[in-house]
Amino acid sequence: MNNESHDLPPFGRFFLPGPTEVSHDVLRAQAQAMMGHRGPDVQALISRLQPGLKDVFQTERPVLLSSSSATGLMEAAIRNGAERSVLSLVNGAFSDRFAKIGRACGREVDVVEVAWGEHVEPEALEDRLSKKAYDAVTVVHSETSTGVLNPIAELAEVARRFEGVLFLVDSVTGVGGAEVRTDGWGLDFVLTGSQKAMALPPGLAFGVAADAMMERSAGLEGKGVYFDLMAFASNLEKSQTPNTPALSLMYALETQLERMAAEGMEGRWTRHLAMRDRCVEWAEEVGLSVLAAPDYRSPTVTCLELGEGRSGPEVTGAMRERGYVIASGYGKLKEGTIRIGHMGDHTLEELEELLGVLGEVLA
Ligand SMILES: *Cc1c(COP(=O)(O)O)cnc(C)c1O
Repeated sequence: MNNESHDLPPFGRFFLPGPTEVSHDVLRAQAQAMMGHRGPDVQALISRLQPGLKDVFQTERPVLLSSSSATGLMEAAIRNGAERSVLSLVNGAFSDRFAKIGRACGREVDVVEVAWGEHVEPEALEDRLSKKAYDAVTVVHSETSTGVLNPIAELAEVARRFEGVLFLVDSVTGVGGAEVRTDGWGLDFVLTGSQKAMALPPGLAFGVAADAMMERSAGLEGKGVYFDLMAFASNLEKSQTPNTPALSLMYALETQLERMAAEGMEGRWTRHLAMRDRCVEWAEEVGLSVLAAPDYRSPTVTCLELGEGRSGPEVTGAMRERGYVIASGYGKLKEGTIRIGHMGDHTLEELEELLGVLGEVLA
């Protein structure tokens, strides 16, 4: 799937759940000359990117391009989507970050919190929304800290029943790997970053805002300058960005979107599910348990419990000595778990090789 190159390590051994491994032709696509960021050339480039990005998000709406990491668009979600009160669904480190961003932006934030490793039940959301009015709900689709996939379509369906509540989705390890249907599921705002399931270098973020989100944004003050979605949208109408975009990353994106189109989104989702399923099956073979419950396992990241006597950093260190990179657990799960990011451009064959080496390390 990837061309080898003399100055780059062989593809297929780097399984962090972000940044993920970038194929050599995508890396090389960055080496193109600069262009003026207001001229016809950049407009042509941005226009060429839109159809592929819309397919990735499964939307008819314009896909907003931000030269920031994904956290920038999490902040944009709050600043443009909530005037006063936010309900944050928290089941891990990144969903907790969403709540913290809400507070840092001066919003009143309540949380529905469940243990790390669990998902949020639609009934729990319904219960809270029926007791108090909120401007917005924040949720993480694929919790990268635990490998849990939240039932986004069902949660969105609940949120939609409550007038004035916007449903803001961090799908940073979802979009490009897990099934996401922005329009079909009625999501008000969905965001991702370049360096996860999109398998690009870090530094770009992408978001789609529904009409309700743009209407909310239009009526809000105090949004600041950099993450005002009105500015993103009005510039995108002219195929431009509000300020100088990360051009080199957009060159890489153009190449990656061509590769993604060749595989097709359904094909991509299927490949990720196959990698997830193989990881789970292998864990059973070697006697490790998967942190997430069977129906809520992310197609892009698996968090494995190591059991007594093993430490996450020790296992990742031993893997590194053998030339393979995986992650230890996140935050409080650092010692007791490891995480395999089987996302982006990895294949089942490469995963199989990785699991073989991991099996030797654990034996
Ligand atoms: C990586 C990640 C983020 C943060 O992304 P940055 O690009 O580092 O800002 C947010 N949410 C989730 C679920 C992530 O996996």
